[in-house]
Amino acid sequence: MFRLHCNKCGQLKASEPNRPFYITRCQHIACGVCLAAQKTLCPICQRPFQGTEINASLPSPVASYFQDPHHLLELWKRISKFQHEQVASDNLHFWHRQQKAKDVKRDLEGLTKLSATLSSKNEREKQKINKIRDYINHYERALESDRDISGEISNSSHGLGSNTSSSLATDNTMSDEHLRSLMNMSLSSSGSGSDGQPKTKRRRSAADVNSVSFFHL
Ligand SMILES: [Zn+2]
Ligand SMILES: [Zn+2]
Repeated sequence: MFRLHCNKCGQLKASEPNRPFYITRCQHIACGVCLAAQKTLCPICQRPFQGTEINASLPSPVASYFQDPHHLLELWKRISKFQHEQVASDNLHFWHRQQKAKDVKRDLEGLTKLSATLSSKNEREKQKINKIRDYINHYERALESDRDISGEISNSSHGLGSNTSSSLATDNTMSDEHLRSLMNMSLSSSGSGSDGQPKTKRRRSAADVNSVSFFHL
């Protein structure tokens, strides 16, 4: 550390502790006596005086001019090390964010593929449902036709007074099995070469075939 003195007259501050000393913007030190002689100019370089008195109230940037340079060098090293570590930490977090973004992107791609697969499967299931609905409609039409034929048989048998007339009269409560036996009777009575009810026979057969294909969907 240098000895504080007036750069104009060489007066040591330590020898005149009550004399004010000033530091200028042009980085000169002048005592109060020399500065008073020059009034508004720096006593050393004659530039317009801009400065402040050297005391404990010096602003921090100006006070650092009076600190030991080795102390400032150590401070600079600590500051440099601290800032280097902060940059390294920032870089590490940035790398982690990039890795996480890659994972999220990979997950998103997987979910997109899964969504496409499920959509395709959903479409196939809809098509199956439509086929089932078509089968049900077809079967219901065939069943309705069978009931119409049963009604005709009931009317014709009622006049004969046979034992089956009472059961045929209760058409609404007729079981499916009974209906099917009547169908067989009707079809067998029409004969293999008869053209009496061949259309109904073919329609019922088609329903049976559809029934088999339905259970294999
Ligand atoms: Zn002086
Ligand atoms: Zn000066």
